[in-house]
Amino acid sequence: MRREPIKLGDSVVCWECMVPFQLVSGAHIKGHGMTTQEYKRKWGNPPTVSNNVLEKRGKSISKSKKGTMVGPDNPFYGKTHSVGVRGIISKANKGKVGPWANKRIPESARVKMSINHANVSGRLNPMFGRTTNQAKYHQYKGVSFRSGWEVKVAKYLDEVGVLWKYEEIRFDLLDCTYCPDFYLVEQDIFVEVKGVVTEGFLIRMSKMKELYPKVEVQIWDRKKLQSLGIDTN
Ligand SMILES: [Zn+2]
Repeated sequence: MRREPIKLGDSVVCWECMVPFQLVSGAHIKGHGMTTQEYKRKWGNPPTVSNNVLEKRGKSISKSKKGTMVGPDNPFYGKTHSVGVRGIISKANKGKVGPWANKRIPESARVKMSINHANVSGRLNPMFGRTTNQAKYHQYKGVSFRSGWEVKVAKYLDEVGVLWKYEEIRFDLLDCTYCPDFYLVEQDIFVEVKGVVTEGFLIRMSKMKELYPKVEVQIWDRKKLQSLGIDTN
């Protein structure tokens, strides 16, 4: 089920599930367990009706809502981060150069990590279970992705105009760390692209919930990717 690339203005994205629609209906929003009002407040009043639908209705959308999603035209312009991630980011920024400096891990954990790097293997190694074969990396926009699915997700997010960061925040889970695949900047949510959910991953997820209850991590599995029209072959 391959779909034509989504053009902004031809569809609107439900920011809860990132699925593009002609119309994000109240019934759909209700399916996420919230009212339309709550949805609009949460996401900074994003458009819920595509230009296509508006044109069919004989209305034309204001010029400022057309086309680009950059700057003040973006419905999330000026939207602040939720407390959960804001705390992490401010910690990450402490005394560092860029806002994405990946340094929120306490000194003790860093020592642990460097020891494990030296030891090469082990469950405490942040690279545990991850491939280190550079040749297996997939390049897109100068970023090295671990899988073809991740590249497809990055392309999809570009198509729907969602600003993303790849593997730029690592969470300290005390005895291990966790670095979600994507951070959707405006939506303030993390996305983990997962073909197979392992036990180790489920443990990390439950630790995430416990230690960072305000941080939202969505798991995009094969079914989810297919529902977004992303080719999983
Ligand atoms: Zn939705």
